[in-house]
Amino acid sequence: MKIAIIAHDGKKAEMVSFMMKHLDLLKEEKITLVATGTTGTHAEEAGLKVSKVLSGPKGGDAQIAAMVANGEIGMVFFFRDPLGMHPHEPDIAMLMRICDVHNIPLATNPATAKLLMKQALS
Ligand code: PGA
Repeated sequence: MKIAIIAHDGKKAEMVSFMMKHLDLLKEEKITLVATGTTGTHAEEAGLKVSKVLSGPKGGDAQIAAMVANGEIGMVFFFRDPLGMHPHEPDIAMLMRICDVHNIPLATNPATAKLLMKQALS
């Protein structure tokens, strides 16, 4: 199972601490992570193993969407900052649409991600 992780700037710390909290589960379930560029760098700095695509505003969300469309991703955790403005809003909407097209679980906040981790992996 591969999980895509993406976090807007105001949510990156929350994403990293969420993943660190679930480190045992990631290892147990042999989950691999793919992340947009800057989110991935933050995760790596915390010691997580993650493959990276481009940064979100440079096309990373679109790359993740392509992976979802290709059936390579089992879940997407996208911690969005609802209070921020994002130049790549069309890419973000496209990623969420592609998740819906392919019925891929998409968590846009830590509470949902926690439920997905618990339910989908049990
Ligand atoms: P980033 O991209 O991880 O490269 O910051 C996230 C995003 O804003 O989509």
